[in-house]
Amino acid sequence: MKPIFVALIAFLMYFSACGQNKQNANSKKKMEFPIKKTDDEWKKSLNEEQYRVLRLKGTERAFTGKFYKHKDKGIYVCAGCGNELFKSETKFESGTGWPSYYDVIPNAVVLETDYSYGMVRTEVMCAKCGGHLGHVFDDGPKPTGLRYCINSVSLDFKKK
Ligand code: FE
Repeated sequence: MKPIFVALIAFLMYFSACGQNKQNANSKKKMEFPIKKTDDEWKKSLNEEQYRVLRLKGTERAFTGKFYKHKDKGIYVCAGCGNELFKSETKFESGTGWPSYYDVIPNAVVLETDYSYGMVRTEVMCAKCGGHLGHVFDDGPKPTGLRYCINSVSLDFKKK
């Protein structure tokens, strides 16, 4: 009987610990951004797909975005607020089907740990409006070794 009892206690502790973690993640303080709009205002200023990705942290289907093969010289800006995010010189072909950059314009984005879908990833958000842009990974090329994997739909482009 005793080993079963110990196992039961361990089992309960394990699950209560998991519950705790989840609660901490959910009760995380909401981040504040300089550009504040209500949900309705965002819905009016964005198209449906932009709203789904930028505001609901969605992901566009790989190889479908307008910028994954884009090679013009210029600046990629936030589709939500126009904040300048990435220079075309830092764009590279990652083979992932999403526009990828090895660097970001200083202070243009904020990063946050993202625990969704059973993965631990680093989310990239626009520093001005909080719009979801994509994720950053540490398997990028030199000189930074970073790969900013960004949804085309979260971006606009200003040609040089
Ligand atoms: Fe923005």
